[in-house]
Amino acid sequence: MNGAEGYMLKEKLHCFMCNNLKDTGIIVNNHFICIRCERKIVNTSPNHQKYQSIKEKIKLLWAK
Ligand SMILES: [Zn+2]
Repeated sequence: MNGAEGYMLKEKLHCFMCNNLKDTGIIVNNHFICIRCERKIVNTSPNHQKYQSIKEKIKLLWAK
């Protein structure tokens, strides 16, 4: 594997979702998502109210 994706980063980045400075998470299309938000996305069921707003944010990642 070589690439920017992974769970441990060498430097802290601002999370695309919560805007906190974290060094653990994933990078999607050059946007950093911290581990907490990534889990939130994974664990939010499609029936959940928040799912739509989360999905809208995620769509922005791929829209570029
Ligand atoms: Zn976050």
